[in-house]
Amino acid sequence: MTIAELYKTSDPFVWVKNLCGDERYVSRRDFHVVDDEFSQKDHAIVCDIDGVLNFIPKGHRDRILLEDGEACQWTELNLSSTAVCNTDMFKLLAFFYNQGKKLVFLTARGDSQRLHTEIWLRKGFTEIGYSHIEFTLFMRGWSCNDLEAPAMKSQMMQSCILPVYDVDFFIEDCPKNVAAMREACPHIQIMQVHG
Ligand SMILES: [Mg+2]
Repeated sequence: MTIAELYKTSDPFVWVKNLCGDERYVSRRDFHVVDDEFSQKDHAIVCDIDGVLNFIPKGHRDRILLEDGEACQWTELNLSSTAVCNTDMFKLLAFFYNQGKKLVFLTARGDSQRLHTEIWLRKGFTEIGYSHIEFTLFMRGWSCNDLEAPAMKSQMMQSCILPVYDVDFFIEDCPKNVAAMREACPHIQIMQVHG
Protein backbone atom coordinates (compact mmCIF):
# COMPACT_ATOMS: atom_id res chain seq x y z
CA MET A 1 0.00 0.00 0.00
CA THR A 2 1.30 3.46 -0.88
CA ILE A 3 1.01 6.43 1.47
CA ALA A 4 -1.59 7.97 -0.90
CA GLU A 5 -3.69 4.81 -0.73
CA LEU A 6 -3.33 4.73 3.02
CA TYR A 7 -4.80 8.22 3.36
CA LYS A 8 -7.61 7.53 0.87
CA THR A 9 -8.90 4.31 2.35
CA SER A 10 -11.75 4.37 4.84
CA ASP A 11 -10.90 0.85 6.01
CA PRO A 12 -10.03 0.89 9.71
CA PHE A 13 -7.59 -1.99 9.11
CA VAL A 14 -5.12 -2.36 6.23
CA TRP A 15 -2.53 -4.85 4.99
CA VAL A 16 0.97 -3.38 4.95
CA LYS A 17 4.47 -4.67 4.44
CA ASN A 18 7.10 -3.63 6.97
CA LEU A 19 10.74 -2.84 6.24
CA CYS A 20 11.69 -6.50 6.76
CA GLY A 21 9.22 -7.53 4.08
CA ASP A 22 6.70 -9.07 6.49
CA GLU A 23 3.04 -8.39 5.75
CA ARG A 24 0.77 -7.37 8.60
CA TYR A 25 -2.83 -6.43 9.16
CA VAL A 26 -2.75 -3.23 11.22
CA SER A 27 -5.14 -0.61 12.49
CA ARG A 28 -5.03 2.48 10.27
CA ARG A 29 -5.29 4.89 13.18
CA ASP A 30 -2.19 3.34 14.79
CA PHE A 31 0.00 4.33 11.88
CA HIS A 32 2.75 6.67 12.85
CA VAL A 33 4.45 8.66 10.18
CA VAL A 34 7.98 8.61 11.48
CA ASP A 35 10.82 10.93 10.62
CA ASP A 36 13.91 9.37 9.13
CA GLU A 37 16.65 8.82 11.64
CA PHE A 38 19.08 11.75 11.47
CA SER A 39 22.76 10.84 11.38
CA GLN A 40 23.77 14.11 13.10
CA LYS A 41 21.49 14.91 16.00
CA ASP A 42 21.37 18.05 18.09
CA HIS A 43 21.07 17.72 21.84
CA ALA A 44 17.68 18.83 23.08
CA ILE A 45 15.74 19.53 26.24
CA VAL A 46 12.12 18.42 25.89
CA CYS A 47 9.75 20.29 28.17
CA ASP A 48 6.06 20.14 29.03
CA ILE A 49 4.17 23.45 29.32
CA ASP A 50 1.17 23.41 31.68
CA GLY A 51 2.22 22.93 35.30
CA VAL A 52 5.91 23.39 34.41
CA LEU A 53 6.11 26.83 32.81
CA ASN A 54 2.92 28.30 34.23
CA PHE A 55 0.84 28.25 37.38
CA ILE A 56 -2.56 27.30 35.98
CA PRO A 57 -4.44 25.92 38.98
CA LYS A 58 -5.05 22.17 38.84
CA GLY A 59 -8.83 22.72 38.89
CA HIS A 60 -8.58 24.54 35.58
CA ARG A 61 -6.61 21.89 33.74
CA ASP A 62 -8.33 18.86 35.14
CA ARG A 63 -10.04 15.92 33.56
CA ILE A 64 -13.68 16.45 32.83
CA LEU A 65 -16.37 13.82 32.55
CA LEU A 66 -18.41 14.01 29.37
CA GLU A 67 -22.08 13.04 29.04
CA ASP A 68 -21.24 9.72 27.42
CA GLY A 69 -19.09 8.75 30.40
CA GLU A 70 -15.76 9.43 28.68
CA ALA A 71 -13.23 11.62 30.46
CA CYS A 72 -10.90 14.05 28.75
CA GLN A 73 -8.15 16.51 29.60
CA TRP A 74 -9.23 20.09 29.61
CA THR A 75 -7.43 23.39 30.01
CA GLU A 76 -9.32 26.66 30.15
CA LEU A 77 -8.25 28.48 27.00
CA ASN A 78 -8.23 32.03 28.36
CA LEU A 79 -6.15 30.85 31.34
CA SER A 80 -3.54 29.16 29.19
CA SER A 81 -3.04 32.30 27.09
CA THR A 82 -2.84 34.70 30.04
CA ALA A 83 -1.17 32.43 32.61
CA VAL A 84 1.63 33.84 34.76
CA CYS A 85 5.00 32.56 33.55
CA ASN A 86 7.24 30.58 35.88
CA THR A 87 10.31 32.70 35.17
CA ASP A 88 12.63 30.36 37.09
CA MET A 89 11.78 27.56 34.66
CA PHE A 90 12.18 29.86 31.65
CA LYS A 91 15.61 30.84 33.03
CA LEU A 92 16.54 27.17 33.38
CA LEU A 93 15.61 26.61 29.72
CA ALA A 94 17.60 29.69 28.68
CA PHE A 95 20.59 28.25 30.59
CA PHE A 96 20.37 25.04 28.55
CA TYR A 97 19.87 27.08 25.35
CA ASN A 98 23.10 28.98 26.09
CA GLN A 99 24.87 25.62 26.33
CA GLY A 100 23.84 24.91 22.73
CA LYS A 101 20.86 22.66 23.45
CA LYS A 102 17.74 22.86 21.31
CA LEU A 103 14.52 23.66 23.15
CA VAL A 104 11.60 21.40 22.32
CA PHE A 105 8.15 21.68 23.89
CA LEU A 106 5.88 18.66 24.06
CA THR A 107 2.34 19.43 25.16
CA ALA A 108 -1.01 17.67 25.10
CA ARG A 109 -2.62 20.96 24.13
CA GLY A 110 -4.25 20.66 20.73
CA ASP A 111 -2.78 22.06 17.54
CA SER A 112 -5.73 24.51 17.42
CA GLN A 113 -3.97 26.30 20.31
CA ARG A 114 -0.60 26.51 18.54
CA LEU A 115 -0.61 30.22 17.75
CA HIS A 116 -1.43 31.53 21.18
CA THR A 117 0.79 28.90 22.81
CA GLU A 118 3.73 30.14 20.74
CA ILE A 119 2.89 33.76 21.58
CA TRP A 120 2.72 32.88 25.29
CA LEU A 121 6.06 31.01 25.18
CA ARG A 122 7.64 33.98 23.40
CA LYS A 123 6.25 36.26 26.13
CA GLY A 124 7.81 34.07 28.83
CA PHE A 125 11.24 34.22 27.18
CA THR A 126 10.90 37.97 26.56
CA GLU A 127 10.28 38.50 30.28
CA ILE A 128 13.75 37.11 31.01
CA GLY A 129 15.42 38.98 28.14
CA TYR A 130 15.45 36.18 25.55
CA SER A 131 12.91 37.48 23.04
CA HIS A 132 14.65 35.91 20.03
CA ILE A 133 15.17 32.44 21.43
CA GLU A 134 14.29 29.58 19.06
CA PHE A 135 12.19 26.59 19.98
CA THR A 136 10.12 23.80 18.44
CA LEU A 137 6.61 22.99 19.58
CA PHE A 138 5.05 19.52 19.36
CA MET A 139 1.32 19.41 20.12
CA ARG A 140 -1.58 17.00 20.05
CA GLY A 141 -2.59 16.52 16.43
CA TRP A 142 -5.85 17.71 15.00
CA SER A 143 -8.75 15.40 15.91
CA CYS A 144 -6.61 13.18 18.15
CA ASN A 145 -8.50 13.72 21.38
CA ASP A 146 -9.09 10.02 21.97
CA LEU A 147 -5.43 9.50 22.81
CA GLU A 148 -4.66 10.27 26.44
CA ALA A 149 -1.71 12.50 27.27
CA PRO A 150 0.62 9.76 28.63
CA ALA A 151 0.26 7.65 25.46
CA MET A 152 0.35 10.70 23.19
CA LYS A 153 3.51 12.13 24.71
CA SER A 154 5.44 8.86 24.88
CA GLN A 155 4.47 8.01 21.27
CA MET A 156 5.33 11.47 19.97
CA MET A 157 8.67 11.26 21.75
CA GLN A 158 9.44 8.01 19.92
CA SER A 159 7.96 8.98 16.54
CA CYS A 160 8.74 12.68 16.17
CA ILE A 161 11.50 13.68 18.57
CA LEU A 162 13.97 10.84 19.15
CA PRO A 163 14.65 10.28 15.42
CA VAL A 164 15.77 13.92 15.22
CA TYR A 165 17.26 14.82 18.61
CA ASP A 166 19.45 13.36 21.34
CA VAL A 167 17.25 14.13 24.33
CA ASP A 168 19.21 15.15 27.44
CA PHE A 169 16.20 15.74 29.70
CA PHE A 170 12.44 15.48 29.60
CA ILE A 171 10.87 17.99 32.00
CA GLU A 172 7.32 17.13 33.11
CA ASP A 173 5.00 17.59 36.10
CA CYS A 174 2.34 14.91 35.54
CA PRO A 175 3.21 11.59 37.27
CA LYS A 176 1.23 9.58 34.68
CA ASN A 177 3.13 11.19 31.81
CA VAL A 178 6.42 10.55 33.61
CA ALA A 179 5.53 6.89 34.18
CA ALA A 180 4.52 6.38 30.53
CA MET A 181 7.73 8.02 29.30
CA ARG A 182 9.87 5.90 31.67
CA GLU A 183 8.27 2.77 30.30
CA ALA A 184 8.49 3.75 26.61
CA CYS A 185 11.90 5.46 26.69
CA PRO A 186 13.82 4.17 29.73
CA HIS A 187 17.11 5.71 28.55
CA ILE A 188 15.77 9.29 28.76
CA GLN A 189 16.55 11.26 31.91
CA ILE A 190 13.43 12.81 33.40
CA MET A 191 13.27 15.93 35.53
CA GLN A 192 9.93 15.79 37.34
CA VAL A 193 8.71 19.09 38.74
CA HIS A 194 5.75 19.78 41.00
CA GLY A 195 2.96 21.49 39.08
MG1 LIG B 1 1.93 19.43 32.67
